[in-house]
Amino acid sequence: MKTIYLDNAGTTQVSPEVKKAMLPFFDEEYGNASSLHFLGQQAREKLEEARADIAKCLNCLPDEIFFTSGGSESDNWAITSACREGARKGKKHIITSAFEHHAVLNTVKKLEREGFTVTYLPVYENGIVKVEDVKNAITDDTALVTIMYANNEIGTLQPIEEIANLCNEKGVLFHCDAVQAVGHVEIDLQKLKIDMLSMSAHKFHGPKGVGALFKRKNRRIDSFILGGTQEMNKRAGTENVGGCVGMAVALNEACKHLKENIERETKLRDMLFDELTKIPHSRVNGDREKRLPNNFNMSFEGIEGEGLILLLSDSGICASSGSACTSGSLDPSHVLLSIGLIQDVAHGSLRLTLSEYNNEEEINFTIKEVKRIVEYLRSFSPLWKDYEKGVKNHVI
Ligand SMILES: *Cc1c(COP(=O)(O)O)cnc(C)c1O
Repeated sequence: MKTIYLDNAGTTQVSPEVKKAMLPFFDEEYGNASSLHFLGQQAREKLEEARADIAKCLNCLPDEIFFTSGGSESDNWAITSACREGARKGKKHIITSAFEHHAVLNTVKKLEREGFTVTYLPVYENGIVKVEDVKNAITDDTALVTIMYANNEIGTLQPIEEIANLCNEKGVLFHCDAVQAVGHVEIDLQKLKIDMLSMSAHKFHGPKGVGALFKRKNRRIDSFILGGTQEMNKRAGTENVGGCVGMAVALNEACKHLKENIERETKLRDMLFDELTKIPHSRVNGDREKRLPNNFNMSFEGIEGEGLILLLSDSGICASSGSACTSGSLDPSHVLLSIGLIQDVAHGSLRLTLSEYNNEEEINFTIKEVKRIVEYLRSFSPLWKDYEKGVKNHVI
C-alpha cells in the first residue's frame, strides 16, 4: 500500500538534501565544536555556517539565532526569560491567546501558578486574534505578549506585523511561536518588530530534536540550560552540529522554493476544500483564506474523528483529528473549542496538512476516501439516525 502523508503539521519527512548533508556528521565530521583540534574546528565552522544560513533566510543577524532542541524548548525559554525579566521590574502580567500550542500554554500556566496574571485573548470564530484586543489588554504591568504566527490545527495566520508594531510602540516584549510558519510563509525579521521567535526544523523537512530561538540583538535573555559556554553562554550542552546543519539546509531549500511550494500547496488544499465542503452538514474550521497554504481543517457532523482517522489510515492515508490529542484523552481540542465549536462537532474534525511532496493523484484519492468513510460512519451513527428521524436538529 502506498503511503499518502497528510500530517505535515505534526512532522515532516527529512528531505534527501538534508539527509545527505547530515550523514557525514555521524562518522566523519563528528568533532565536538568546542575542541581545539582540527576536527573540532571543522565542526565549529559548519555550525557557524548553519547559523549564518538560517539568519540569512530570516533576514536577521547570525548572533540573533540560538540553537535549541526544538520548538517546545524555544517557547519555554523565551517565555520564562521574558517573565523573569518582567518580574525583576515588577511586571507580572502576560498576554497570550486561547489557542496557543501547549508548549506556550503550559509554560504560561506554570507562571500563572507562580503569581503571574494571564490574559487569554479570544480568537473568535475565524480563529484570528484582534489587534484591538491586544491593545486593550496591555497595561503598565505587562511583561510579555506571546502570540503564535499560525495555528497548528486550523492554520489561521495572525496579524503579527501589527501586533509587533503595537508591542514595540508600548515597549512590551513580544514573543512569537512561528513553528508552523517558518519555511512555509515569508518571514522577514528586519521588517517584523518581533523580539523573540521560535522555530523547529522538523516542521520544514529538517530533523527532529533541533530548533532555534531568534532573539533580537538589543534584547536580553537569561541562560536556559546551565553548563558550558555554548550558544553565546546562554544554552549549555554539546552542539548537535549535524542537526543544525540539517536545519540550515532544510530552511535554505524552503526559502529557495517558497513561492512555488505555496502555489502547489494552495492548489491542492483548495481541491480538498472545494470537494469536501460538498459533504452535507460539514464546516470549515478557521478562516478559509487567512490560513497557511498547506492547512485543511473541517468538521463533519455525526461522526467521530478517531474513526475517520483510523479508516483513512487503513487506506494508507496519514491524517489527524483535533478531537483527541495523542495522549489518548477524549477531550476535544482546545483550539476547536476556542473558535466556538460545540463538543459533538469538534469530535468530528479532520486536519490534513500538505507538503510540496504531495500530488493531485494523492489528493483525489483522499477526497474519494474521506467522502466514502464519512458516509460509512454516518450509516451506523446513532446520532446521525436521530438527525435523520428529526429527533435531534442538525447543528451544522
Ligand atoms: C510542533 C510545534 C511546537 C513544538 O515543536 P517541537 O520541535 O516539536 O518541540 C510548538 N509550537 C507549534 C505551533 C508547533 O506546531
